[in-house]
Amino acid sequence: MPTPETSDRRQIVGDELFRHLPDEGAIRSSDGQRAAAVSPEFVRSLHESLARDQGDSAHHLLYACGYEWGLQDMVRLTHRLRADRGSENLDVWHMEANVVFESWWAPLTAAGWGRWVLDLSAAAKGVCLVELRNSAVAAAHSGVTAPVCHLYAGLFAGAVSFFKREENHAVEIQCAAMGHPSCQFVIAPGAQIDAIEVWRKQGADAAEIRRRLA
Ligand SMILES: [Zn+2]
Repeated sequence: MPTPETSDRRQIVGDELFRHLPDEGAIRSSDGQRAAAVSPEFVRSLHESLARDQGDSAHHLLYACGYEWGLQDMVRLTHRLRADRGSENLDVWHMEANVVFESWWAPLTAAGWGRWVLDLSAAAKGVCLVELRNSAVAAAHSGVTAPVCHLYAGLFAGAVSFFKREENHAVEIQCAAMGHPSCQFVIAPGAQIDAIEVWRKQGADAAEIRRRLA
């Protein structure tokens, strides 16, 4: 992990979570990871380019990118929590879910990825629900007829899979890009997600899906 250089020209950006290093031509997060500042136009263009080149596979690519991002972020979070708490043996799955996921998401909120609430009321059935506000992907789209936040769906699925130590997947059941006040996701084992996606495509809205999962 690179050590940020001390420099009079260094600027602290985003509540000291990011350092702008002009000499290096880079932005790095507080743990040394390379970051980039991108506009809504960039996000929209990325999605449009992938859809043009890859067709329906674009959704799967975005989801897969998010999934790997979620897994790797949880590995980094584990290292950070071990350092913060002075415990080399700490594993996130021994901690309260809300503590882990709030610790994970706080830097992402500061970085502009939105604010989310994890709903574990159906956890006994193996299902987690997430409500996301200010999705950066939804903000880059408008007037769409289907959810667009595949990157986030993968991100949540990857992080929850790491925490639960079993492969889970996610589906977006309501998207702000379709005019709703927030994006909503269900995270569960793959067979359940496939069934929920069928319900959604048959016209069930988020409230109906949540009712069926209750
Ligand atoms: Zn969305």
